Amino acid sequence: MPKDPDLMEKIVSLCKRRGFVYPSFDIYGGLAGFFDYGPYGLALKNNIKNLWWKQFVTNREDVYGIDSVIVTKKEVLQASGHARGFADMLSECEKCKRRFRADHLENTNKCPECGGKLGEARHFYMMLETHIGAAEDEASLAYLRPETAQGIFTNFKNIVDSFHPKLPFGIAQIGKAFRNEIAPRDFLFRLREIEQMEVEYFVKPEFWKDAFEMLRKEMVKFIETIGIRTDKVSELEISDEDRAHYSKRTIDFEFEFPFGKKELYGLAYRTDYDLGNHQSSSGVDLACLDEETKEKILPHVIEPSLGVDRSFLAVLCSAYTEDELGGEKRVYLKLNKNLAPVRAAIFPLLKNKPELVSKAREVYESLKLSANSYQLAYDDNGNIGKRYRRQDEIGTPFCITIDFDTLEDNTVTLRDRDSGEQTRVKIEELIRLIK
Ligand code: ATP
Repeated sequence: MPKDPDLMEKIVSLCKRRGFVYPSFDIYGGLAGFFDYGPYGLALKNNIKNLWWKQFVTNREDVYGIDSVIVTKKEVLQASGHARGFADMLSECEKCKRRFRADHLENTNKCPECGGKLGEARHFYMMLETHIGAAEDEASLAYLRPETAQGIFTNFKNIVDSFHPKLPFGIAQIGKAFRNEIAPRDFLFRLREIEQMEVEYFVKPEFWKDAFEMLRKEMVKFIETIGIRTDKVSELEISDEDRAHYSKRTIDFEFEFPFGKKELYGLAYRTDYDLGNHQSSSGVDLACLDEETKEKILPHVIEPSLGVDRSFLAVLCSAYTEDELGGEKRVYLKLNKNLAPVRAAIFPLLKNKPELVSKAREVYESLKLSANSYQLAYDDNGNIGKRYRRQDEIGTPFCITIDFDTLEDNTVTLRDRDSGEQTRVKIEELIRLIK
């Protein structure tokens, strides 16, 4: 794919025009770092999350899924180090008062916006706060979780007590997280309200390397499953100075976004940092029994952390395609079939012929019955060419047209999104073909 300087703009505009993603509170001028998902975006996002859940939870015997609360008791985030440590070093411009992440600055003395003098870098806390109950004081302070992981650690003992899992085992969850990012930007890349898919995989300390490698491979497999271009993904070993406060080894999976090569996902060895801290802060014993040695141990943990929104953006950047078909320019999303918001669209050739319409509705209804997990669309607006273009733009892999021949021989035209090729197939064959 040749570099296209306008690619991001095209993706943002397609997302808005076709009901994938809208800036939140648009009618009030928007709010930086917040976006809403429309019908097609939601379908695509749910497909990403479902594929992740299937791979990391349902297809495995050693991972337990949970759904914990977002509002988090402050003691939890004090113990985890977030209330102290979850802050970026920022420098404030003495002239325009804008703040910049110190690690993003080329010149740490000069404001990149107005050229003014930058002050010393200092901490800026990144958690969103709220208060529980009537009084708004220090005692009622709580946080919106900055990662889904802490809800997993606080449920660790519950899972152990209910299920008695043997090490190694994982606890997974998908959910919202909040970060008061100083410079939200690049559409869905840096948001203030995000969604994460995380597993905390608990191991005996001596086996952390095996688990790390197993999970690294699982992440590569997931990247392939959702159709992110693997030639644009690379792994970066994070150096000692740059690693998060809790980690002993971290790999970032980076993706070449149109605005540069940036972190897509992270894989971190968090040691027993979290469980150890929660154990000493809560006073509750979190050690579990090692079946072999019959000794109690505090497990270590490996964490694959994947952003849903960054996945969504990388999928779109990978899928957005412009080409020429039948002498006409077109835009289409080359989405994997299992990801496309609409799997197949069904059209009557002409909308003013009742016999075609009724046959098309019949085909649509019967396909819907067998297509339990994916969405179909019925479209009779405009001419066939326009319908194809509309479906191409949202990445629908198959278009099915009912015409006069259908009434005679029960065959339909099946059109393939990528090649534009049309074949005549029997109605009975449709389900198998679009599956
Ligand atoms: P960055 O260095 O880009 O700020 P991070 O290292 O803080 O990211 P993690 O704390 O490792 O990110 O979060 C895990 C995952 O959550 C990231 O790999 C990314 O997919 C997602 N994520 C984190 N912050 C954001 C954000 N502000 N907007 C969208 N997704 C995010």
